[in-house]
Amino acid sequence: MANRREFLKSASFMTLGALAASKVSAANDVNGVDGITAATAQAPKAGNTNLGFQAYSLGGELLNNPAPALKKMKSYGYDQCELAFYGFDDKAGHGQFSSFGGGKPTSAADFKKMADDAGIKIISSHMTPNLDRGAKYDKSTETKILDFWKKIIPDHQMFGVEYIVQPSLPTINNLEDAQNVAEIFNKVGALLKDNGIKFGYHNHSNEFNKVVPGGKEVTPYYQRAFRRPGDNSPAPKTIEEVFIEGTEAQNVLFELDCYWTVMGQQDPITWINKYADRIQLLHIKDFVVIGASGAMNFETIFRNFYAHGHRNWFVEIEDINSGKQLDRAWASARYLIEKGFVK
Ligand code: MG
Repeated sequence: MANRREFLKSASFMTLGALAASKVSAANDVNGVDGITAATAQAPKAGNTNLGFQAYSLGGELLNNPAPALKKMKSYGYDQCELAFYGFDDKAGHGQFSSFGGGKPTSAADFKKMADDAGIKIISSHMTPNLDRGAKYDKSTETKILDFWKKIIPDHQMFGVEYIVQPSLPTINNLEDAQNVAEIFNKVGALLKDNGIKFGYHNHSNEFNKVVPGGKEVTPYYQRAFRRPGDNSPAPKTIEEVFIEGTEAQNVLFELDCYWTVMGQQDPITWINKYADRIQLLHIKDFVVIGASGAMNFETIFRNFYAHGHRNWFVEIEDINSGKQLDRAWASARYLIEKGFVK
């Protein structure tokens, strides 16, 4: 028969096992996020103005029925959003938001009115120019890229955005490709600035790959470039560094997606502090519901970001075809409000 010491030892193992199991299930249970349930949820604090969401997070739950979805988001505490899914319709001569599944699209003007009616401010928008597959940013594509941005400016002025952010990485195989992208980003930023809008770039994980000069493509080794012993050439830079250092602060800001930074084997805090004046926006993203995985150190991320005087960030929730995105947005808002991250 096990003695008490052995019993306690095995009991603590069981407890740990039970904790681990509950952690896993919490990630998939919107009602189990840090013990926050509908019964314990507090109403948002008065005066909140910067609980933001990335519209991508809601997928069809937003686009197939935008007016009620926006009102629900407001009731959860969200005050502002960053658009996704906007597309310019050349025939109509204006932008629109396509539905998921072939329903009627919502015009840009109608969407803006629905957001106004709900009390959701549109402060940012994700946009990426369409180029032919594999096409690079260079002299041959520059005009097409700039024409794309010129076309979408009027609708975005109508939305009243402060920012437009490009979320997709152009084709880059070496340092020169990355520098060419930075050069064109500078021009895009200058164009948008002349029209009263700030231009930004949003990372995934590939921006933390390193690139080498001389037109040489990096042989992927865990997607990184390393110097061999005895190689005294300058240390290879990450694409993100080339973008930040190769663009002017007055033209290009950066939106750090904290989750994808971690997926790129980097510490978001290092980047937030190293480029404190350039990283002005954040994507607050987790595996799914914000805070549920326990893997993201949001407390430190927010503390450092706020210390630099920045205010705007957006919740982003993956798995957009789940049919549960509004519930997950609610659970994410509860976590962020109750943790005191909404300033
Ligand atoms: Mg993101």
